[in-house]
Amino acid sequence: MELPSAQEWRQRAETLRFRSQALINGQFVDAASGKTFAAVSPTDGRHLADVASCGEEDINRAVASARAAFEDKRWSSRSPTERKKVLQQFARLITKHRDELALIETLDMGKPIADSTSVDVRATADCFDWYAEAIDKIYDEIAPTDDQNLALITREPLGVVAAVVPWNFPMLMAAWKVAPALATGNSVVLKPAEQSSLSALRLGELALEAGIPEGVFNVTPGIGPEAGRALGLHMDVDGLFFTGSTQVGKFFMEYAAKSNLKKIGLELGGKSPNILLSSYRDVEGAAKTSANSIFFNQGQMCTAPSRLIVEKSIQDRVVQTIVETAAEYVPGDPLDPATRMGALVDERHTARVLSFVDAAKEDGATIALGGDRAREDSGGCYVNPTVFDNVTNSMTVAREEIFGPMLSVIPVEDADEAVRTANDTCYGLAAAVWTDDLNVAHKVSKGIRAGLVYVNCYDCDDITVPFGGFKQSGIGRDKSLHAIDKYTELKTTWIRLNGSAD
Ligand code: NDP
Repeated sequence: MELPSAQEWRQRAETLRFRSQALINGQFVDAASGKTFAAVSPTDGRHLADVASCGEEDINRAVASARAAFEDKRWSSRSPTERKKVLQQFARLITKHRDELALIETLDMGKPIADSTSVDVRATADCFDWYAEAIDKIYDEIAPTDDQNLALITREPLGVVAAVVPWNFPMLMAAWKVAPALATGNSVVLKPAEQSSLSALRLGELALEAGIPEGVFNVTPGIGPEAGRALGLHMDVDGLFFTGSTQVGKFFMEYAAKSNLKKIGLELGGKSPNILLSSYRDVEGAAKTSANSIFFNQGQMCTAPSRLIVEKSIQDRVVQTIVETAAEYVPGDPLDPATRMGALVDERHTARVLSFVDAAKEDGATIALGGDRAREDSGGCYVNPTVFDNVTNSMTVAREEIFGPMLSVIPVEDADEAVRTANDTCYGLAAAVWTDDLNVAHKVSKGIRAGLVYVNCYDCDDITVPFGGFKQSGIGRDKSLHAIDKYTELKTTWIRLNGSAD
């Protein structure tokens, strides 16, 4: 894919204008309180915009507009084919504005422009397109009852759906929720993360242009404990779907219990084990892929293979290849299309990520690479790719989700110890095993408690497969047709056929 040069992106960045007001009932409006928060670019510390900081009053207005739209059926009563056409137009507009959306994403949260264009914008458009294309091909059911009755099993939209999302893939995490929710006829209120609201607001504008009726898709930027909490506690939100940390996921369970028992879907954190065994013929190839997977997106991935569980006999070879591969991830200017490692999302997160270096040292791990800041003159938030070697699974860096470009290498004796170590975590999102022994591949992949298991690969991705975690990595699945279950209620309607009333 041909991309503009770094210089051209920089020029475009100078003239880019951002939507920064909330989108409520089809109008861009200030927060009722007039409050804003600053969007600061982690690429160089520049101030991008002052974004409306929605509070309870704004959330009430957004939910009321979503409810009114749902009740008057301006969207939900359209046939699936009609909704498909509008959502496909939305997908086309996202693709048409690829460069602008990618630039917003890179400036706002720091990822390399090549990733914003080829991953974030592309996958966001594909997601809307896929659910649009799917929705007029899903049939309801008739139950196999006796022939005196007809029992219809139909799906109905939940009603008002709220989505609260993080900053690591701002548009895509929103799309995974908003696309199936809109396709099934719900009205939506989206709260983006405070570090990355700008692309969500532009998406809202494009949704209106595509023909999604006013009030059906609202975007309410704000601070989590204010705007996010207000959505979680709202008595008129029927379902709340969240991606973010396990800690905040627990809050949403609590909010639901304290309010109207709204349906809750959670995509949470991970500490994914990546088991590399000596029975895999291309140890160097596996190590290279493992390095690419932990350093991609600056390590800010819920599925990041942050625990490399390796057989001792190949540990040194593996670590050496990872250190060599890390040279391709020296942080660079995110607006340069050649850059593979950009900035972390903000200063606070950078400080947290770097604090794990001291924790690793205190626990007795070896710092095999990195552990320090990079590009300090840039004014941005850059961390060098970091490898902790000789880690044990009880060390802090093996237990806590770092969400940065930091890998912990944990040596083990054999596959059995590897599986025990892999499962010794509160998380269960993703895992991998590398082996050419089919029996071992089956045994290990079955033995691991995780929602996604990769065999001889990592981070394969497709909208057609479900995504989500076991244990404290979440509840429910995003993506694929399985996600439709989250945004619909099943209704059974009995019809007596013989005319008798008994
Ligand atoms: P957080 O959980 O801190 O925030 C996620 C969202 O929740 C943000 O919109 C945030 O708002 C909001 N929020 C924060 N506190 C509250 C609160 N008390 N009440 C209601 N809403 C709140 O996660 P991060 O943004 O830091 O994202 C990183 C985390 O997300 C990682 O732990 C990662 O594992 C997880 N994640 C999981 C994925 C998955 O699919 N399983 C995918 C991507 C990330 P604000 O921005 O104002 O804080």
